[in-house]
Amino acid sequence: MFDPISLIAGAALLGGGWVAGRVSRRRSAPKRQPTEALCGCGHDLALHDRESGVCHQEKMRKTGYGIKEWARCGCQRYTGPTPIEDFFTPPTLPPAV
Ligand SMILES: [Zn+2]
Ligand SMILES: [Zn+2]
Repeated sequence: MFDPISLIAGAALLGGGWVAGRVSRRRSAPKRQPTEALCGCGHDLALHDRESGVCHQEKMRKTGYGIKEWARCGCQRYTGPTPIEDFFTPPTLPPAV
């Protein structure tokens, strides 16, 4: 025969663990992969200027036979997917009780 109190305690433990697992899973959501925020020029969003949108990455450009030089990427604006956290950064508040 089962003890009703231990049954309730067990159920509460199970429920609490389930909720905690869900919360921690949501908080530890997978972070944005660098490859996800790639511009059409093939460079990461971080390499683009926040205000002007110009890409700061440099490319090896072939200027002639056997002659190569580093040249600024010609990208004028980031065209890739925009990570939400870059625009909306929630303030770090203490957890609500
Ligand atoms: Zn670009
Ligand atoms: Zn670029």
